[in-house]
Amino acid sequence: MNDASSLRTVDVGGATPYVIAIGPDLLRDGARLAAPVRGRHVLIVSDDTVSPLYASRVRAALVQARPQLQVGELVIPAGEASKTLDHFGAAITALAELGATRDACVFALGGGVVGDLAGFAAACWMRGVDCVQLPTTLLSMVDSSVGGKTAVDIPQGKNLVGAFHPPRAVIADTTALHSLPARELRAGLAEVIKYGAIRDPLFFQWLAAEREALLRGEAGATAQAIARSCEHKAEIVERDPLEKGERALLNLGHTFGHAIETEQGYGAPHNDNLNHGEAVAVGMVLAARLSARLGMAPAADTDTLRALLEAYGLPTTIPAGLDPQALLARMRLDKKNVAGRLRLVLWRGIGQAEVVPDVDEAAVLDVLRG
Ligand code: NAD
Ligand code: MG
Repeated sequence: MNDASSLRTVDVGGATPYVIAIGPDLLRDGARLAAPVRGRHVLIVSDDTVSPLYASRVRAALVQARPQLQVGELVIPAGEASKTLDHFGAAITALAELGATRDACVFALGGGVVGDLAGFAAACWMRGVDCVQLPTTLLSMVDSSVGGKTAVDIPQGKNLVGAFHPPRAVIADTTALHSLPARELRAGLAEVIKYGAIRDPLFFQWLAAEREALLRGEAGATAQAIARSCEHKAEIVERDPLEKGERALLNLGHTFGHAIETEQGYGAPHNDNLNHGEAVAVGMVLAARLSARLGMAPAADTDTLRALLEAYGLPTTIPAGLDPQALLARMRLDKKNVAGRLRLVLWRGIGQAEVVPDVDEAAVLDVLRG
């Protein structure tokens, strides 16, 4: 059914290897969707934006390929506010009502919110059943669907309850990106640019050259950007699945970014608030400026990064009205910190990120003040 030449795959190795498939119309490919399913039960978890667009084609393709399957569905409201223990409980109830056995499979059909929540439910049902990630946002295709981190939020903070539970397969249907709002596409592109910034200067240059094609959603360039990003993430998580070392590099810009997201009221439905990818874009520029200020990297690389992000329509400065001292206080609470020292991902220049264990707070404050 699929033009084989347009299908790309990335292998993720390690203790529980799996394959990431990237290509058009994969959500209609019943054989591919059914292949990872071991038992008779599939629960599709989706949100109320994605489900009406794509759930029926997944169900139809699955049942056509494997008529004896019992397929249940849980639909949660779209948005980060749904990544809760309550909706996790609803997913567990749905598995129980389906009569799901230990060979059941959870299909996470949606963005990172659905992927994290459904993945966590799969990690917990009967102490762990299979999960197939069907990411429908660019961000989830290049980041959250790969690597096995699953979680829900609690009022005290984001992602505080979760598990490492690698998927059995990742199937990224690039056709689904056609319905994605432009702002969500750009948020995903910020994370794509991050891979270039932390470890791949040639990819960084390629992203500058292919900007128009990527912003247009041109199929070949988009699939290539996803595949290259997944290769980078796969290489890193293969070597460091539990984030004891180099996996932290994936957080370039994230300590600054999370501080901005939290300070502006995380999850508050204000359109002028930065979303995650936008906050990471600003955060990467702040990390680059701090690196230059500490004498670690040439200031010219900050300018190159800022110019690329701006060309992609992404923000590069802290939104007006956020207090630098308050942002610094948020950064002190980051999970990466050890023994009360600010631990940040900085860089030596484009393509060379590194973890710096004890960053001078005065220098950070200077950068936050602009
Ligand atoms: P999301 O899941 O909220 O999706 C963004 C919006 O796009 C939602 O409103 C959704 O309904 C809509 N949408 C999704 N696919 C669509 C499509 N094809 N067409 C039209 N609309 C569509 O957000 P996200 O940016 O995908 O993911 C963010 C979440 O991912 C956060 O909760 C974050 O913590 C998590 N995350 C996890 C990891 C990890 O390693 N597990 C990594 C990065 C991010
Ligand atoms: Mg991120």
